[in-house]
Amino acid sequence: MLNIQGQSTALAHIQRVVHSGRIASTWIFAGPAGVGKFHTAVEMAKTSLCDHPIHRPNNSGGELFNALLEPDFVLTLPCGQCESCKAVELRTHPDLHLVSRELIRYHDRSGKSKGTTLSIQVIRGEMIGDDSPEHRVEPKIYKRSQRGRGKWFIIDDADLMEIPAQNALLKTLEEPPAQNYIILITSSPTELLSTIRSRSQFVQFRDLSFTVMVPELVNRGAGEAQAKLLARLSGGSLGRAIIFMQAVITADRDEQDKADTKPPTTDQPAFPHWISAISSMLDNIFTGRDGGMALAQVIQKSAEQYAKTMLKRDPLASKDRLVRDGVGLMLSFVAAWLDDRLRYATGAPIIAPLPSQVHSIPLPAAQECIVACRQAEMQADMNAHLGVLLASTCTAIEQALRTAVAA
Ligand SMILES: [Zn+2]
Repeated sequence: MLNIQGQSTALAHIQRVVHSGRIASTWIFAGPAGVGKFHTAVEMAKTSLCDHPIHRPNNSGGELFNALLEPDFVLTLPCGQCESCKAVELRTHPDLHLVSRELIRYHDRSGKSKGTTLSIQVIRGEMIGDDSPEHRVEPKIYKRSQRGRGKWFIIDDADLMEIPAQNALLKTLEEPPAQNYIILITSSPTELLSTIRSRSQFVQFRDLSFTVMVPELVNRGAGEAQAKLLARLSGGSLGRAIIFMQAVITADRDEQDKADTKPPTTDQPAFPHWISAISSMLDNIFTGRDGGMALAQVIQKSAEQYAKTMLKRDPLASKDRLVRDGVGLMLSFVAAWLDDRLRYATGAPIIAPLPSQVHSIPLPAAQECIVACRQAEMQADMNAHLGVLLASTCTAIEQALRTAVAA
């Protein structure tokens, strides 16, 4: 479980606990989305459920070497060959229970769920059982482990648990059945009850660095330039970068279907259409040919297109959520574009420059615009009215850029 890129602190922590043999019954894996928390949780369960775990010194591990552990520290790793390991990989192991938002609709009897929160029905159905006469469900957590090595429950997006669901879970955590392990995965640990947090072993995961992400994305089929751009826009989250990449690929495929032409044979990076639309719009605002409202419209339209593309991949996703994700992605592009112009102005190095006719934008205008973008990104992620938010942000950007030109 040590080859999860860029998370050596979290992995060293886990290895030390596994080595001590005193594995806590409840864990919180916290950190940004898409940096390997879920994958690490599954690997941890796999190691614990493995019939013949491997023990070997840190310095003999090759790419598994962890600089935060002593060279002779004995790592515990799953064998990857036994029946248990194979069942974990296929997600068919009877003692591994994955609780995720995909299960929401299965347990929602009203059929009205938008699939945005984990209700108490999900926690009852998947973990603690329900003894009401009309829909009796056996408690999985109190059943014996089928293969005799304990049971693991991994709750993805645990912060989506509604308060009644968290309270129901808390009762179990207060008196955990022996050899039951629960891992709560979250990017917002403060959304969990403090009483749950205080009973959990906490492991913090970090943003991934540029040098980790670019080769990972290239391995998954991105061109070098595209990988650099995706790494910049996804704020250190490999999962987010992969989702963006899929959106780009799906959008490209749609374009090709429409045009009924062969795919381009050059190794030109396949950037989504909105990248060039927003870049040239920013150029135009700077030179006075367009205004902030035009930029707001391009972002809104492109975000809706992004949501449409992503809905094709996951029809159960919430469209509103996807439009918000799209707006966040585009605002983060605008901030990155401004960051380049600011770097030109100050002579700072630029990684993976973004397309533009405008060379540099001086301080403090560029900074002011970047701050406006970052704030708007956060508000878009919450429940701000997108039309109003984009109009005010893009107008502020227009004013700041015009002032910079006039100065
Ligand atoms: Zn094994």
